[in-house]
Order: sequence, then C-alpha cells, then structure tokens
Amino acid sequence: MNQAVFKGTLHLTADVLVIGGGPAGTWAALTAAAKGAKVILADKGYCGSSGATAPSGTGVWYVKPDAKLREEAKASRYTMGGQLAEHRWMDRVLDRTYENMNRLGVSGYPFPLDEEGNQYRRSLQGPEYMRLMRKLVKKAGVKILDHSPVLELLADEHGVAGAAGVQTQNGEAWSVQAGAVVIATGGCAFLSKALGCNVLTGDGYLFAAEAGASLSGMEFSNAYAICPTFSSVTKTAYYSYASFYYEDGSVVEGAGSKKGRSVIARNLLAGRQVYAKLDGASEELQPLLRVAQTNFFLPFDRRGINPFKDAFPVTLRLEGTVRGTGGIRITDEACGTGVPGLYAAGDAATRELICGGFTGGGSHNAAWAMSSGSFAGEGAAAYAAGLGRHAADRTPAGLSSSPLVHRQVQPGAAARAAEYAAAVQAEVKPYDINLFRTEQGLNASLERLDGLWKEQRSREIQRTPEGVRAREAEAMTATARWMYSSALARTETRGMHKREDYKATDNGQHHRLISGGLDQVWVRTEEVAKESVLL
Ligand SMILES: Cc1cc2nc3c(=O)[nH]c(=O)nc-3n(C[C@H](O)[C@H](O)[C@H](O)COP(=O)(O)OP(=O)(O)OC[C@H]3O[C@@H](n4cnc5c(N)ncnc54)[C@H](O)[C@@H]3O)c2cc1C
Repeated sequence: MNQAVFKGTLHLTADVLVIGGGPAGTWAALTAAAKGAKVILADKGYCGSSGATAPSGTGVWYVKPDAKLREEAKASRYTMGGQLAEHRWMDRVLDRTYENMNRLGVSGYPFPLDEEGNQYRRSLQGPEYMRLMRKLVKKAGVKILDHSPVLELLADEHGVAGAAGVQTQNGEAWSVQAGAVVIATGGCAFLSKALGCNVLTGDGYLFAAEAGASLSGMEFSNAYAICPTFSSVTKTAYYSYASFYYEDGSVVEGAGSKKGRSVIARNLLAGRQVYAKLDGASEELQPLLRVAQTNFFLPFDRRGINPFKDAFPVTLRLEGTVRGTGGIRITDEACGTGVPGLYAAGDAATRELICGGFTGGGSHNAAWAMSSGSFAGEGAAAYAAGLGRHAADRTPAGLSSSPLVHRQVQPGAAARAAEYAAAVQAEVKPYDINLFRTEQGLNASLERLDGLWKEQRSREIQRTPEGVRAREAEAMTATARWMYSSALARTETRGMHKREDYKATDNGQHHRLISGGLDQVWVRTEEVAKESVLL
C-alpha cells in the first residue's frame, strides 16, 4: 500500500462497488441490489454499449433441466477443454443460466419464437441484451458511473474497501469507498481492435494481483479470431460456412473455422495471404444470416463485397483471454478471490471451472458471465452486510503498484504509454510466439516483458484520462507475463495451449496452473477437484 486514499472531486460510498458494466457486472449489480445492498457500478465506457457482448450476438449455454440433456451439455466440451472443468461448477452455472435467461424472458427481452410459439432462449443479441440490463440495473436503484475507468483498488488491513478512478469526459478524479468490490472488467485483448474489445486490457487482473489475489489458467489465453483484413468484426460463427483459398483460387487444404485456424496461421506466417468465401451457406440461409448478425455484413457492404460469392482476405485477430479461459482465481462458491471483500466475475475470472482450457464457439462465456456475476453480486452483498458498523470507520489506501499522483507528470507520458502498449503487442500478437509456443520463444519474450514491467513500475502516473492509458499498458504487460510464465510451466499441449516442443497431452499435467506476483512472477500447480471427473 503506497499512499493515503485520495478524496477526489467525487467521493461516494456504497455497500458494493462493481467494476465493469458488461453482462457480468450488470448481473452482479442486479443481484447485489436485490439483496438490499447499496450498489455503485463504474464502467470505463458506457454501461450498455461497452465490452465484448454489447456489439455481438452471443449463443448461451441454456439447457433445460433434463438429466440427459444436461449430461450431454457437460460432456460436449469436457475433452476439448483438457478435462479441467468441474462437475459441480458446470451444474451450478447451468442452473443459474437457465434461471437468468428465463428472467430475461419475463423482463421483456425480445426472444424470437419457435414454430410452436415458444420463446427460443439460446442466444442473445448484444445490443438488446445490454440495453435491457442497463434498464434493469437502473430500476434496481444502482448508481452507474459511465466513462469512469478504475485506476486502482483501495484497501485497509481488513481487505478491499473500494476503488478510485477518473472520469474520462471531464478529467475529474473519483473514489468509492465500499464494503466489497466485484471485478467484472472483462478479459484482455491487448488493444487488438477486435470490435468491443479495446476497453479490455486486463485491468482487473492487475487490480486483483495488486490486492494479493492470484490468477488461474493464464496459459489458456491465446484466442485468435478469423476476421477480414479490413474489418474489426471478429464474429467467427459464420466461418463454419466458409472455404479458404489462396490468391490463385486454389483451396487451402485443412483450413477451417473450428480446427483449421492453425493452418491459416501457418500460411499467414509464411507470407501467403489466405482468402475466405462463405460459399457453404445455401441461398435460403443467406438472408437469415444477414438478419441474425447485421454488423457482420457492414464492412462487406461498405466495400461492395458479397461474402457469399466473393473471396475476401482474412487474418487472425488476437482476442487473448476474451475468448480464452484464464483469469482471476476463484476460491469459493460466491466467486471470492481469497482476498477479503474482493470478488471476480465474467471474463475477468477464470472460466476453467466450466470449460477447462477451451471455450470454442459461443455459449459457455455468456453463461459464465451471467452466472458468476450473480454469484459474485450475492457474495459481495452478504460480505458487505457482515461488516456492520465497521464499514464506516475504514480509511483505505490505494493499491496501485506504480505511484498514482495528482500533480503533472513529466511530459511525454502519453507517448510512452503508447510505446509500452505497442511493445507488449509485439510479444503477444505474433502467431509464432503466442499461438505456436516454444520454450525458446516464450523465454525470450518473457525477458523483454520483464524489462518492460521494470521500466513502467516506478514511473509516476497522473490521475487523468492519459493515466488510464498508462495503467492499461501496465495491465497488458502484467497479463502477458502471467500468460507466458504459465505457458512455459505447462510442458504439454492441452485445450487451446499449444506447445510446438510438447505436442502431446501429458496425463501427469492434469492440474491447474495458478500464477501471480508483480515484480516476481510465480507459477504453481493446483489439483483439479476430484469430483470433476466425468465417467
Ligand atoms: C465477437 C465476439 C463474439 C462472442 N460470441 C460469444 C458467444 O456467442 N457466446 C459466448 O458465450 N460468448 C461469446 N463471446 C464472449 C463474450 O462476449 C464474453 O464472454 C462476455 O462479454 C463477458 O462478459 P463480461 O461482462 O465479463 O465482459 P465484457 O462484456 O467485456 O465487459 C467488461 C466491461 O468492463 C469494463 N472495464 C474494463 N476495464 C475497466 C476499468 N478499468 N474500469 C471500469 N470498467 C472497466 C469495459 O468497459 C466493459 O464494459 C464473444 C466475444 C466476442 C469478442
């Protein structure tokens, strides 16, 4: 703890502070408020249109409570995820997702109707979903701070007690003292410009580690999405209808959306441009696809490309942990982090508990976001209520590992933050470092990342919108170090983690990798709960 808490221009108190207003944060806010807590939600952008879900359509792991259907659902990704999911958690999430989706149905979400007139509840359109979530959160009495990124957590000897940040639209600092905090800041896509993901820079991981929490599964962090070279839309479901070609029109053998992304990556690495065409979609299906994902087609329409008939150049855009599964380690059923008063939910938390080391296409992430958000909101509300009158006596201090200051810092700080971010991207974007991993590549990269961390660590950061960029660069650096340290420790291929020098799965490594530390990164193994083994 390095400095006394700043009483910013805006100083508020709450029972529960939720950081992040995507699906996980809004469900956390709703459930905490339903338990009687006074709740504040702070988002870096505008709650309702910020984050990975808001501009997308998401499939949801919505399975009726029928024993056979549930067993099939649990088994479907168990092997792909490297057998790291846990039965008990899958059951809890399936139950809570079913309940929450039904609740959305009665709260006015416009689910489409099937042939019998029943609502089809297995997917959500991001814009409608998040607009409704904002409405429900406000109706529940939650105070929303939009455009208010958190810069650091606040804590005292009893645990986490709030957070401080800056309002990016007027430059004013703020702080919220709270009995408990839920981190729901999403994953880390390393400013790769994937649609909806540029606010997701791993901030929550850094905040949690600064408070003493650890991470889990950070080796499962190398999601790359197929995407046209001229677009930021990374919705990949439609590429299951695609064929892939070289410039001369010959087929790229083995390339595909589900299993053949490595083939695309190896071609791109070798300097051979790959083209896609959605020529597997029938004439009848095409208009339906257009209606289901309107924003998928916008970049094509603007260029006069018909993606069903014309081949267009593709790339693989990094989504990091957003469609990976690693994140803050969860230590109890309320999505606690092991640090008193600190909870985590959604992509900020590890999703290994329900899908191991691989999420594949849509459903599990969205289910996890709404379920873990609900568990965390309820847990945080109960924790805050338990503090009783002591909550008001606390004088917490900021936890940022770099000094956060009010005075002006040296000129050029913004340019330096951009340089650090670019330097981290140079380590995590290349397919031959992050997708096809080797001991040599990971070690060399880690050495450079450790250097970047040291350089940033002691620099003063001003509590301004520019300071937000500096903290993002720090968070990206820290995230990359936990990712690669974990990837080095897993000397096998499992889930989405692929080692070129250890291509097989090693039964002796059927464990989790827990990581943490700031100046000194550490990794240790943890057993997967015994009852998790599916028969
Ligand atoms: C293109 C695409 C398609 C997808 N499709 C599916 C699908 O079909 N099915 C599925 O299950 N999953 C899908 N996903 C994944 C799914 O979108 C995420 O799992 C989900 O959005 C996670 O919710 P979240 O609330 O944890 O994070 P997000 O929705 O990303 O929200 C995080 C929020 O935290 C805020 N934030 C970040 N840092 C700070 C800070 N420092 N201070 C304050 N606020 C902060 C952000 O502004 C953002 O609003 C898809 C993802 C993408 C990118």
